[in-house]
Amino acid sequence: MKKFMFLYFVLLFLLSGCVIKPEIHITGVEEGKVYADKRTITINEEQAGTYSMTLNGKSIESGHVVVKKGTYNLSIEGKKLWLKSKKDITFKIDYQPPKLPALKNEIQPGYFQEANIELIKEDGITYDIKLNGEPYDLSKPIQKEGMYELDIIAVKENGLVSHRTDSFIVDNQTFTQEMVEAFLSFHFDYDQIEDPFIIKWIGKKVPVYIHGEPTNEDLDQLRRYLNEINSWLPVQFEITQENKTDITSFQLNIYFVPNEQFKDYGFTEELFQEDGETIGFALPTEGNDVDGLLATTIGIDSTVNQKDRNPTILHELVHALGMYNHFEHDTSSILYPLTNQQITTLNETDKTLLGMLYRLDIIPGMTEEEIRQMWKPRIVE
Ligand SMILES: [Zn+2]
Repeated sequence: MKKFMFLYFVLLFLLSGCVIKPEIHITGVEEGKVYADKRTITINEEQAGTYSMTLNGKSIESGHVVVKKGTYNLSIEGKKLWLKSKKDITFKIDYQPPKLPALKNEIQPGYFQEANIELIKEDGITYDIKLNGEPYDLSKPIQKEGMYELDIIAVKENGLVSHRTDSFIVDNQTFTQEMVEAFLSFHFDYDQIEDPFIIKWIGKKVPVYIHGEPTNEDLDQLRRYLNEINSWLPVQFEITQENKTDITSFQLNIYFVPNEQFKDYGFTEELFQEDGETIGFALPTEGNDVDGLLATTIGIDSTVNQKDRNPTILHELVHALGMYNHFEHDTSSILYPLTNQQITTLNETDKTLLGMLYRLDIIPGMTEEEIRQMWKPRIVE
């Protein structure tokens, strides 16, 4: 009878749930995870019963904080009466973000016919690639003509990311060798400044401030020229009513003043009068090789007759677009250094070279050699 009672009691004890197998619940770290921050390891002590916990072999308590970079093995053993549970968790701490995604060849601002972009993939990194916002498989060449923005996000197992964005165009335009040489010599074979470089406007909207005393015809001509420029170049000049004189921000300032006053607006050259008189100037006043031109000042002599002023306005505007050289031998060009009352539009060379300058693959600060290399595949005879 006694024996029976004992068994009965034991059964009751177990069935009523007074003794449950210890359970190991850890918060702060999980098996196989890589963390980029410090971790606090906490154990549910009640569920674990009497426990022992070691981290890489060293005994730790619940609430232990792991800070140092490394690979860790957490070993826990829980015990309730004669019942035991065991758990092992391996995790890593790594504060290093992934490397910036690297490409086999650096991205060019422009590609002829197709862009082949090859990503150098690293182990343990996943890549999120988007072309104009849509997921893209870079193993396919980009052949459709257009403007592109490529985003590559490298994601490391610790969750840290590195992100690069590149912009470029793909198009099928070709040039003759002669056109390329004309463009390069215009911009780089230039003795007025020591180290010639490409400058142009790359902001879309450029406010135009008019100062001094323009005639109505000056304004009509100016509007006509600006509309023409706006209609085919990727810039937008907008005449504003405000009379602004601060020349450090994004703007084009045009002064219609007697040429003796040019010096007040930044013109430092010797002023010619009478024969070969200086009747206009254009001067870039702010800019850099990232933002392009930021401010430019134009002066138009308000004392000369209207017929000379009209071509001068266009001549200086074309300079202000970044075409600072002259065509010394092309009398039909608006950039012929001497004013010709008959020339009031751009000739073919002016248009071609301006169009080349405002291609999206030409960026401020580019060198002659960079442009030569980039345009090589486009040259046809
Ligand atoms: Zn000039």
